[in-house]
Amino acid sequence: MKSAALTELDTLKAEFAISLTAAEAASDDAELQRLRSSFFGPKGKVTLLLRSVGQLPAEERPVAGKVINQVRQELEGQLVLVLSRHEELARKAALSSHRLDTTLPGRQPVPMGAVHPVHRVVARMTELFVRMGFEVATGPEVELDELNFGALNFPDDHPARDMQDTFFVRAPDERSFGRLLLRTHTSPVQVRQMRAEGAPIRIIAPGRVYRCDSDASHSPMFHQIEGLWVEEGVSFAHLKGVLTSFIHSFFGERGVRFRPSFFPFVEPGAEVDIGCVFCGGKGCRVCKHTGWMEILGAGMVHPNVLEACGIDAEKNTGFAFGVGVDRIAMQLYGIDDLKHLFTSDVRFLESL
Ligand SMILES: [Zn+2]
Repeated sequence: MKSAALTELDTLKAEFAISLTAAEAASDDAELQRLRSSFFGPKGKVTLLLRSVGQLPAEERPVAGKVINQVRQELEGQLVLVLSRHEELARKAALSSHRLDTTLPGRQPVPMGAVHPVHRVVARMTELFVRMGFEVATGPEVELDELNFGALNFPDDHPARDMQDTFFVRAPDERSFGRLLLRTHTSPVQVRQMRAEGAPIRIIAPGRVYRCDSDASHSPMFHQIEGLWVEEGVSFAHLKGVLTSFIHSFFGERGVRFRPSFFPFVEPGAEVDIGCVFCGGKGCRVCKHTGWMEILGAGMVHPNVLEACGIDAEKNTGFAFGVGVDRIAMQLYGIDDLKHLFTSDVRFLESL
């Protein structure tokens, strides 16, 4: 016959099984923790039963103690299993309710930089010429008088060399190199490239240039893109073809007009106008009611320039052109004063 202790153990087992099922169904662990302490805590039912083994007759003690201990381990094991299942469920629920959405904007947005409007225009123009086989060339902004003017067929008394138009630079090496200045155009890059590489040559030279000039449409520092193509058989037809193709790609299909003009480094020279991008040629404030916008100067490279750059002018011909980038950026972005582009007011730049 079973001892009273073991009979009580059976009752406890049955009670535990029912309580565990109920606690498992609960949404949190509170019930499970209560079950744990009411059965296995210091005053728990199983603990007390185990303690009561001491009062049993001596011959029953070892068996009863062993059986109760086994049952305690078994029941505690079940409880721990249910607890860990609960934890796992809770973790999964937490993960799905706090899912990290990496597509949400940050709480403290980092201000984004952007390409300056002038450089946006430079980059787009450069890309179009590179597609037509032009290579990009660059040179120093502090330049020799000889490369900025001399080699480009500017006579010594040309007005562009006046102090009013050009920033001259006082430099210790003046005696060995001649006068230094801030380049007034990117043409010295062409001279350097022609001297270094000879013909055939097909380059564009984007960059900053400087002139003593300052009003709403002139800034002492501005940007140019100049182009040069020298090769046997290059004619004015190539000039018109390249520039017309560039204009149509950049501004869209529109009228293009070549007007005779004079620059010391070309012969013949031309100013190039395009049908106004704002009124389509009807006439508006921007085009001063002419329907045309002047966008660049061009011409066939003067034989004196080719010779000054070590290129045989009997054999080679070429054309050159220069675009004032800032003026075009002004027109495209509808800016009325060039200085807005260079005063670095972020509110203004962001509004473009
Ligand atoms: Zn217009």
